[in-house]
Amino acid sequence: MPTGVYERTKSHLENMRLSRLGKELTDEHKKKIALANSDDKSVCWKGNKVSYSGLHKWINKKILKKYCNFCRTNTRKLTIANKSGKYLRDLSDWMVLCVPCHKIYDLKRKYAKTYPRCWAK
Ligand SMILES: [Zn+2]
Repeated sequence: MPTGVYERTKSHLENMRLSRLGKELTDEHKKKIALANSDDKSVCWKGNKVSYSGLHKWINKKILKKYCNFCRTNTRKLTIANKSGKYLRDLSDWMVLCVPCHKIYDLKRKYAKTYPRCWAK
């Protein structure tokens, strides 16, 4: 039956609901649905207008956190840090740091803006 041609009445919708009732989707079918609605195909996709927290959630799902990029440890809690300060939706603009390295990295960037001569070396 072509879609959009016939008006779906209440009884038609009820018959469709009853035909699916009690039937579970297979794992393969669930994966196909998830893939068809992932990332930019999702109705909730905001592209580059994403918020700070939304971008962090997306990067956390995409980036693989194995070890800190500075001290190479994997025993501490690992976080993601932005390189450029522009918060781009680009995996190359992000890196994995442990919490102590992340604090030092952010402080250096903050003071480099405030006192550029002191941090120029
Ligand atoms: Zn570290």
